[in-house]
Amino acid sequence: MMKYLAPTLLIFLILSCKSPQQWTGQGPIEVVPTEDQLIENQPYQDFDLGDGLFLSNKMEGGRLNDARRINDTLVEVQILPENQPINSSPWYAFKVWSEEEKPMWIRLTYPTTGFHRYYPKINKRGLFYKKLDSAAFHPHPKLMEDGTERIEFAEAKVWVSPDTLWISAQDFAGTGYVDRWKDEILEHDFVESINIGSSKEGRPLEVLKIGNADDQKMLMAISLQHPPEIPGFLALKSFVETICEDSEMAEKFRSKYNLYVMPMMNPDGVARGHWRHNVGGVDTNRDWINFNQPEPKALANFMEEKVRETSGKFVFAADFHATWEDIFYTINEDLEGNHPGLIPKLIRRSSRKIPGYEPNIRPSEGMERGVTSSSYFFFVHGAEAMTYEVGDNTPRNRIRQKGEATARELMRMLNRR
Ligand SMILES: [Zn+2]
Repeated sequence: MMKYLAPTLLIFLILSCKSPQQWTGQGPIEVVPTEDQLIENQPYQDFDLGDGLFLSNKMEGGRLNDARRINDTLVEVQILPENQPINSSPWYAFKVWSEEEKPMWIRLTYPTTGFHRYYPKINKRGLFYKKLDSAAFHPHPKLMEDGTERIEFAEAKVWVSPDTLWISAQDFAGTGYVDRWKDEILEHDFVESINIGSSKEGRPLEVLKIGNADDQKMLMAISLQHPPEIPGFLALKSFVETICEDSEMAEKFRSKYNLYVMPMMNPDGVARGHWRHNVGGVDTNRDWINFNQPEPKALANFMEEKVRETSGKFVFAADFHATWEDIFYTINEDLEGNHPGLIPKLIRRSSRKIPGYEPNIRPSEGMERGVTSSSYFFFVHGAEAMTYEVGDNTPRNRIRQKGEATARELMRMLNRR
């Protein structure tokens, strides 16, 4: 794990490690301006590389900034961010096809400030991408000045043919997958969709209401503020599906509590294959205090209006993300919200259900409101809040198990009250 860490993280690790085996997470949250920043739009195009070989970024979620042929069996592509500064989470997604069927190496390169992060997934027809075979993946690590290693570029071997092959950084690309999932969830008669506004580019911002309670006690769950963090969405998906399940416990829960879910906080960024920001060029998870961007602003308005209308309360909120490894960022445990102790107990109890799993929990050190969603949920609403991070490479069945266990334990605890 050490080799992937940026220098600042390394310093952070040395200063604050509690146990040498456990990752202590990202460095302190940086406060950054959240007024609109310029972004560079990638031109959508087919790259004709000769001899009947084509690459293309013309797809929702596509990202491929340049492509050139090095030789008969090697193509080099360049992956650039929407703007800078940005944290290095180089999302990529593109298509490749060839008149002749043959093996081809694709070298993924990044700007000098970036480095390889996402293990390639490939897809022939279906919706889900599968991991590329490990024998077909060559990372090229580089020793940094501080002694850490980073993957400067990586090569992936694929079979190109007249049948289009999709290559992507995660399990799916574009907004369609989340939309189809929303439609499935909406088939339950206790789920409805609420339009709460539009993104900067006019995509609908939608919240699902789950439950038939009276809104005196509400919960909030969100994901995909950061477009590549699809494992975080997969965790939210399992969490929500478990709350919707056909069981006595879930039914009782839904009669006492309404869960509001916004699975796609940054639809423009997802559609445009951004590394992290929305089309305002801003990390929306730094905008939950100034609300310069329409996406966090719409959700905050929705929540505040709910509370005004109903005099109810948000008791719990989770923002699902993905990072290097599984970690829970929680609120300082000396601070009490609407349900003191709920989150630490929930994480400990749900983790016990998963054999061999030891949760990595990092409460914030600060006692004051910050710029992130979970800080907003806690300090404005008193909702017991956490940032639920799963690893980029956490096995998908583990993500599912954890999402299910979290939902079941939460229902068990809240049903008692
Ligand atoms: Zn994130």
